[in-house]
Amino acid sequence: MSADAEQPARLLIRDLSQIATPAGRTAPLRGAGLREIDVVEDGFILCADGRITDIGSMQRLTGLTGDLVEVDGRGLSAVPGLVDCHTHACFAGDRVEEFSLRAAGATYEELHAKGGGILSTVRATREAGEAGLAAALARHRSWMLRAGTTTFEAKSGYGLDHDTELTQLRVVRNAGGVPTWLGAHAVPPEFVDVGADAYVDFLIEDVLPDAASLAVAADVFLERGAFDVEQARRVLSACRAAGLELRLHGDQFTESGAIPLAIELGARSVDHLESTGPVGIAALAFSSVVGVLLPASALFLDRPMPPARALVDAGAAIAIATDFNPGSAFCESLPLVCSLAATQLRMAPEEALAACTVNAAHVLALADRKGRLAAGFDADMVLVADDDWRHLAYHLGGDVVHTVVEGGRIVSTTRA
Ligand SMILES: [Zn+2]
Repeated sequence: MSADAEQPARLLIRDLSQIATPAGRTAPLRGAGLREIDVVEDGFILCADGRITDIGSMQRLTGLTGDLVEVDGRGLSAVPGLVDCHTHACFAGDRVEEFSLRAAGATYEELHAKGGGILSTVRATREAGEAGLAAALARHRSWMLRAGTTTFEAKSGYGLDHDTELTQLRVVRNAGGVPTWLGAHAVPPEFVDVGADAYVDFLIEDVLPDAASLAVAADVFLERGAFDVEQARRVLSACRAAGLELRLHGDQFTESGAIPLAIELGARSVDHLESTGPVGIAALAFSSVVGVLLPASALFLDRPMPPARALVDAGAAIAIATDFNPGSAFCESLPLVCSLAATQLRMAPEEALAACTVNAAHVLALADRKGRLAAGFDADMVLVADDDWRHLAYHLGGDVVHTVVEGGRIVSTTRA
């Protein structure tokens, strides 16, 4: 069947070699709970009106009648549709020139002198206009979908002015994504002379009143050279008062107080953590904040990997995501991130699966209907191209996504 053919309301995927899903109904999963994956051998999944209505062993499947699309699942295994809870996918242009120069050994100063870095993406994004930006996101979204991502978050932060920040949030929302306002991503050129504090005032007074109705969450890049703890606290406190969920980029290059601040403010997540030490690990493990790990970004920048094993063993709730963006992680593939989790973060495939399904859905406040294969959940799933679902992490960079189902409809398939 072609991906865009008319499809009736009911879909039956039968004779699946395996159906693998995080166990139980709670979220987020933490510590040893991350390894608990329920696996049904030789199973079926029935979907109607965008939801999963039944799931189980083929022995239990009785005669179904009526308008029904059947998919032959032999040789395939089903996992929940993947949830990418940290991306910057709403950008115009790319940074391939900068990437090539950096790969050949250019220094940061040389790249900056050639107009590289985040401000080149800000320029391109401001110039793209709403239609241009929507087209760029649609292209990126199609890559993500083919890689098995059925739910995605995307941040603003490449506008850094009132109108473009709002345009980014609107474009993400219109594309079906979960929009996060990251006005505090960098200090834009217009504010370099007056300073980061003046830019924070502008964000809170001029942009937040409009961003609050478009975004689900707010995020701040807390890092030396970007925003400090006090500035991050001001932005996030105002966002919380405006009803937004809170996220935080922290401990990417330096341990700068992001974890205590995330805990103090009740953030849903603190993301990156490549530089987090033992005190931060212990604090996060005893909190309700999820640590979002981004190994593709660490790989892309040739940076140390985040301490995933220590976090999980300490009992922390962690998620994994792509950090898809043009500068530091030009990577839309969560299966590749699962491979990096297994090979670089010393996470079991089971832990990686839970981290990019149920826990990522929890970060986006969607865990009541996404991130698991269970009756009543949204009919979002990935059919992995092997009879053992663990090929999702095992097949490094492989063509492992066979078919993607979103809302009970086949949206991508390699089957002719
Ligand atoms: Zn990021």
